Amino acid sequence: MQNIFELAKIPLEKAASLIKMDSEAAKLLAEPERTIEVSIPVIMDDGKFEVFRGYRSQHNTARGPAKGGIRFHQDVTMDEVKTLGFWMTIKCAVLNIPYGGGKGGVIVDPRRLSRRELESLSRGYIQKVAPMLGEYVDIPAPDVNTDARIMGWMMDEYSKTCGRLAPGVITGKPLSLGGSVGRSPATGRGVMFTVRELFKKLGIDAKDTTAAIQGYGNVGSFSAQLLHDIGVKIVAVSGSKGAIYNEAGLNPYDVQEYLKSNGTVVGFPGSHSISNAELLELPVTVLAPCALENQLTGANAEQIKAKIIVEGANGPTTPEADEILAKRGVFIIPDVLANAGGVTVSYFEWVQNLSRYYWTEKEVHVRQEELMVDAFEKVFNTSKRYNTTLRVAAYIVALERLTDAMKLRGWY
Ligand code: NAD
Repeated sequence: MQNIFELAKIPLEKAASLIKMDSEAAKLLAEPERTIEVSIPVIMDDGKFEVFRGYRSQHNTARGPAKGGIRFHQDVTMDEVKTLGFWMTIKCAVLNIPYGGGKGGVIVDPRRLSRRELESLSRGYIQKVAPMLGEYVDIPAPDVNTDARIMGWMMDEYSKTCGRLAPGVITGKPLSLGGSVGRSPATGRGVMFTVRELFKKLGIDAKDTTAAIQGYGNVGSFSAQLLHDIGVKIVAVSGSKGAIYNEAGLNPYDVQEYLKSNGTVVGFPGSHSISNAELLELPVTVLAPCALENQLTGANAEQIKAKIIVEGANGPTTPEADEILAKRGVFIIPDVLANAGGVTVSYFEWVQNLSRYYWTEKEVHVRQEELMVDAFEKVFNTSKRYNTTLRVAAYIVALERLTDAMKLRGWY
């Protein structure tokens, strides 16, 4: 089986051949500019000494500093980090945000760490990658299992290494440390904007639609709530401990409260339990995979009944599934567009940090909507022009901007 990074390049190759992209540009985008592997020593609460493995990869910086989250997960690999960094390059170019792409990760199951161990690991990671970070060089953010509190520790650690407060080195921080209003729901808000815009193009009224949401973390929970707010009936949601279904609709705000107090969505009053596989195959208008990679594969793509798939997660659809679903006429709003709301508001946070001038929630919402609706229009129109999928169209938009920047900088 090909590795995840090679598979991720398939849509890039399709887009490159449609626009006859220069071969030099393809070679520059085929590998990250820089990837480092670090060892992070932590003294555990029981006095034992452990060394964790971490990575940071900068895929491409032609259009601006590397930008991308840090993931804490037991399954992190260097190839996964390189792939996620590559997707960030494409995503920032699709949104026309002046950033390149990067990503970081640590191989750890953070659920087994105490608060002190987690802080020690977070600070240790930043000490090791600090030489390749900087407000104008590489700006991390949260990803799976990392949050505002961790971003605060990381910003503090980086600030100590450079002897001054450097809020612009990392985004997704707590508000009192220079975080932006509107950052937490930003990815879910973007998911909602892209679905709403596609409904308009297809002449669908949100009031007549249903949705199933896989994953009820940051992206999944806000996507569910904001889709519900525009009239979509949320019939199923899942977390890592199981999925729930109610044909009459679930109130996603109540599900959130239930999850907070019970640690799982399973058992939510009025719902019944279904499996993760059943959730993916429900006859809904919109399926939103918002958990991890490789959920829609060659094995289940034929059974998917949704009309629209909106990729809240990064890489939930394998290239094999992508092809099957496209042939079946399923619309896929690709990750590099659908979940770009997070990096969009991260960009706003960075702009506010550098200028030390902070915006209102309304300003953040209005600017996010403007950027995302523009990006959606550009991708949708490109898909019509080239008679191709929204995913390949998004890559075309990105590659045109990236090749332009690399050429004008004299990289080839
Ligand atoms: P999170 O840690 O907040 O939530 C992940 C959720 O997925 C949790 O509810 C977890 O229980 C659930 N989950 C894990 N395995 C599952 C499974 N097998 N079945 C069902 N649910 C499962 O993470 P997040 O920040 O919401 O990120 C989710 C995805 O979105 C990732 O792919 C991430 O890279 C991507 N993403 C996140 C952001 C952001 O701003 N947070 C931005 C863009 C993309």
